[in-house]
Amino acid sequence: MPVFDSRSFMDHENVSFFSDAKTGLKAIIAVHSTALGPATGGTRFWDYAAIHKSAPSDVAQTRGEQDAVYDVLRLSRGMSYKNAMAGLRLGGGKSVIIGNPKKLATDEFMQAFGRAVNTLGGAYYAAEDVGTSVPMLEAAATATPYVCGLDSGEHGTGDPSPHTALGVFTGIQASVRHKLGQNDLTGIKVAVQGVGHVGHALVNHLREAGAQVLIADIVDAHIEAVLADGPATVVAPDAIHAADCDVYAPCALGGTLNPKSLPEIQAKIIAGAANNQLETEGVEDEALRKRGILYAPDYVINAGGITAIETEVYKEPKNEAATRTKVLRIGDTLTRIFEASDKEGRPTGVIANEMAERIISAAKEAKLKAAE
Ligand code: NAD
Repeated sequence: MPVFDSRSFMDHENVSFFSDAKTGLKAIIAVHSTALGPATGGTRFWDYAAIHKSAPSDVAQTRGEQDAVYDVLRLSRGMSYKNAMAGLRLGGGKSVIIGNPKKLATDEFMQAFGRAVNTLGGAYYAAEDVGTSVPMLEAAATATPYVCGLDSGEHGTGDPSPHTALGVFTGIQASVRHKLGQNDLTGIKVAVQGVGHVGHALVNHLREAGAQVLIADIVDAHIEAVLADGPATVVAPDAIHAADCDVYAPCALGGTLNPKSLPEIQAKIIAGAANNQLETEGVEDEALRKRGILYAPDYVINAGGITAIETEVYKEPKNEAATRTKVLRIGDTLTRIFEASDKEGRPTGVIANEMAERIISAAKEAKLKAAE
């Protein structure tokens, strides 16, 4: 796999590989950019070889490790863009731990990971992601101060989901204003795919604002929890993306916008929390644009959670009011993207990437000048 010339590698400041024979730790930390501040992003713990299990074990391991490198590079660049577009004093980075968390994640193992993070001296701050949990990060935090998104400690910011949900809500309001010319959500039909931490809180905001809500989830208890708070129309999980609605809000998994799902979408707007909604950047967003469907770039609309974490990285006191103000800026940022997309006739995803790259380049240049 070519690394240095791949688009994912583009401009990474540092990629480090770690192993610890005693615990079996195998981890990669990618620092895409520290131009805006310490690179901050989640730690993904994933059994990358499992998907290749039909191959001989050495081949599965090699392919799994290649997938892990690709994943960490792609995700850390994504964090740079997300943090830049949210106007945060944070750069972008990500880490992956290779293996099955259920088999490996003892406190000792996570401490070994904490020591790996510590070697970067604060260039990278680790947070929760797929396969890791707050207790696992608390264990890592016994070996390094460079962990965030914790429940404990003087500056711990706790569960980011309510802030993510508020950001998605304000993003839906901005999208409806732009696309449908309506200043409130009264009577707007929103189909929410996945009512877990973010989706459930989002449904509550939408109901309060007078929207009609359709929901789907593969876990019945999550549906029941939403219905206990108020009314919603329940739709089958495999039909929610194709529901007759104004807004489709993917809040479950990535990759829901793909060549198969696209022709079935009836919504005029796609605006949801899930990461990596487009199967291929610049392809599905262009196809949506051509069909007149407004797409709110996922990493812009779902930045509420990382916005709440910023104070923790800087060891500043938690300030709910200031965080809320910053999260509510997501709507204005999206409006700027939508306007540029209309003017230039190019997909919103591409416009957002270019805006993020400009912010990061300007910060890099300013840093270089200051060092001269
Ligand atoms: P979660 O695990 O709490 O909720 C996801 C929900 O989706 C669950 O209820 C799950 O049962 C459901 N689900 C899974 N597969 C489904 C399917 N095929 N159809 C319908 N429902 C399905 O996760 P979350 O924290 O609410 O995050 C939701 C999404 O938003 C994820 O993609 C996550 O990466 C992204 N995100 C979350 C945050 C945050 O602050 N939690 C921040 C940024 C991005």
